Amino acid sequence: MDAVDLHAEAWEGIRNGYESGRLAHAYVLVGSPRGSALHFAESFLKLLFCERADKPCNVCKGCKQVEAHKHVDTLWIEPQSKSRQITADDVRGLIQRMSQTSFDGGWKAGIILSADCMNVNSENALLKTLEEPPPKSILLLLTDSAESLLPTIISRCQKIVLADGAARHTGTEWHLPLMHILHELPPTGGLDAGRLACRLKAILDKVKVGIADGVMEELDQTDEALDESKLKVILEARTNARLKEVQADVFRVMLDWHRDVLMLASGVDADQLIFPDDRGTLEEQAKLHTQGSALKAIQEIEAMARRLDRNIPDLQIFDEAFRKLVRR
Ligand SMILES: [Zn+2]
Repeated sequence: MDAVDLHAEAWEGIRNGYESGRLAHAYVLVGSPRGSALHFAESFLKLLFCERADKPCNVCKGCKQVEAHKHVDTLWIEPQSKSRQITADDVRGLIQRMSQTSFDGGWKAGIILSADCMNVNSENALLKTLEEPPPKSILLLLTDSAESLLPTIISRCQKIVLADGAARHTGTEWHLPLMHILHELPPTGGLDAGRLACRLKAILDKVKVGIADGVMEELDQTDEALDESKLKVILEARTNARLKEVQADVFRVMLDWHRDVLMLASGVDADQLIFPDDRGTLEEQAKLHTQGSALKAIQEIEAMARRLDRNIPDLQIFDEAFRKLVRR
């Protein structure tokens, strides 16, 4: 199965956009820059540069050149081997070449592999292009950690998540502790719910500290001089924006988990579990649920995610949500 089959829905979106002339100017492809995201990017580029009617044909000269990363109108950059960074000069060079007219008057594509290796100056160089993209140009940013990109970049790109369900977050610091919590669900009573809520809060607090450290480091590298009060405002805004992204990912995993519980509680053929490795635990949890209560649990988690946008202390939100998940 190739990348396109695995990500049929995302692919349909791209194909429709291409056929209706409504492609975005920039995409963030979230997945492995050597795996899912790379394969998807190559298929995307073949669609643009294929010379046949049944695009992408995979056999014409255009498709072959795309695949070899040698097509004259596809410009690839990746981190320099020593520093593991994409420098502002790399980005400026890419933008400059993208603004030149394409070889045959067609598309021009810039591809940034491991886009999370851009430092803050590179990202700022890129932002200018995202604000005023050259006509008939496409920018693809490939990364397995979109949360490391500036929110201002993400917001100007269409984001396509390619990594599959459970595998996507396995490298993050919060994934394993969160999985431990999921394994202990559902809470057996109010006290147990409170204990699990505290653990979820501790995970996210730790994430927040890590994000703030990262943002501080970025701000240290910027050229502009910032006074202390301005620094504090930027630090807080960036940290909170990224924390929101992580929170969204955390709730996505919790929802995926309960989707599996619902599948098993409904007794449907569960070949399509998102967490097939945890099937035993999921089956035990499903035994405590009816189809209705499993569905309700999903709704509770969705409601919990929505409430976080309001001004309520997060521990209170988690506590109330976990209490609603109690099964005995
Ligand atoms: Zn072709």
